[in-house]
Amino acid sequence: MTGTFPLVRTTEPVPEAERHGILAAPGFGKFFTDHMATATWTSAEGWHERRIGPLAPYTLHPSAAVLHYAQEIFEGLKAYRHADGSVWLFRPEFNARRFAGSARRLALPELPEEDFLASVEELVRADEAWVPASGGEASLYLRPYMFASEAFLGVRPADRVTYSVIASPAGPYFASGVTGITLWVSGEYTRAGRGGTGAAKCGGNYASSLAAQLEAKQHGCDQVLFLDDTGGEGDLEESGTMNLCLITSSGELVTPALGTILDGVTRSSILALAGEFGLAPVERAITLAELRAGAADGTVTEVFAAGTAAVITPITAFKGEGYEFTVGGGTPGKQTLALREHVLDIQYGRAEDRHGWLRRVS
Ligand SMILES: *Cc1c(COP(=O)(O)O)cnc(C)c1O
Repeated sequence: MTGTFPLVRTTEPVPEAERHGILAAPGFGKFFTDHMATATWTSAEGWHERRIGPLAPYTLHPSAAVLHYAQEIFEGLKAYRHADGSVWLFRPEFNARRFAGSARRLALPELPEEDFLASVEELVRADEAWVPASGGEASLYLRPYMFASEAFLGVRPADRVTYSVIASPAGPYFASGVTGITLWVSGEYTRAGRGGTGAAKCGGNYASSLAAQLEAKQHGCDQVLFLDDTGGEGDLEESGTMNLCLITSSGELVTPALGTILDGVTRSSILALAGEFGLAPVERAITLAELRAGAADGTVTEVFAAGTAAVITPITAFKGEGYEFTVGGGTPGKQTLALREHVLDIQYGRAEDRHGWLRRVS
């Protein structure tokens, strides 16, 4: 059967024994499957050359626009194997829509939602043997992305664009159990401003976050927490790669409103599930001062970060220039861990998919 992305099988797949060895301890982002999806866009021809082919390096002219002006966007989602052997995606339509939104912001061509879904699904089918066994927290991480591949030096949207999807087996995110991380509150760097690219999933946002990430490490923290651009006591935005959520003693699940932050699939799913945990979902601005006061007087009981890679990461402490404080006595919160389990149970088919979030691939 030929799909939208016709399959050209590799003649040199990773030997089966080697693949089994990789799947036994895949880590994250270190190993890649046998195939990749690609498509090309030009202003004259639109999207064409769709295919699934062997995973292979690109040939890029040194003047390729992405190397100079960073016109690039990406996505991240996972394929999960259920106990009966079937393979499923979690809300991939959300990723497809977000990818189109990121493309608009970066003046890249929009990839039709059906092409996004077909490329991801057909790649997973071609590399099905790479989807880790059910039972743990392992999955096949999928990385769709698009970049300006036109050879020219000049500042304008590229006339030639490359779309690809690669896949990488991912082990359980927390190998030694879910403990809790400390965030460095950056008073120096911001990740977004009004009218900027904060809501787009683009490589440039990550490039500019690395100095802040280094600063966090230098202060002994795991990740950075960005504030908005109004200064040191500004509104909470998000962590480098994850959205932020607070649980309050009055039973609210509070998360910063959309605008300059990334509209996360995990964030959206948690807001939808909050009611089942007796929590009222609230999207609004939260100041650092409010978080500090709430952590001190116990009105903020739990804090966690949400994103596809780790699902939910408890945040147990914060540090900034001249201060530090813990939340919930410095241990992961009960509701945080329960929400985490529930999202995983839906993704792995152990809990009923009441919202219709799962999409079967094979
Ligand atoms: C991808 C991403 C997230 C998490 O989004 P999910 O869809 O839940 O994976 C959060 N923040 C940033 C900056 C991101 O790039």
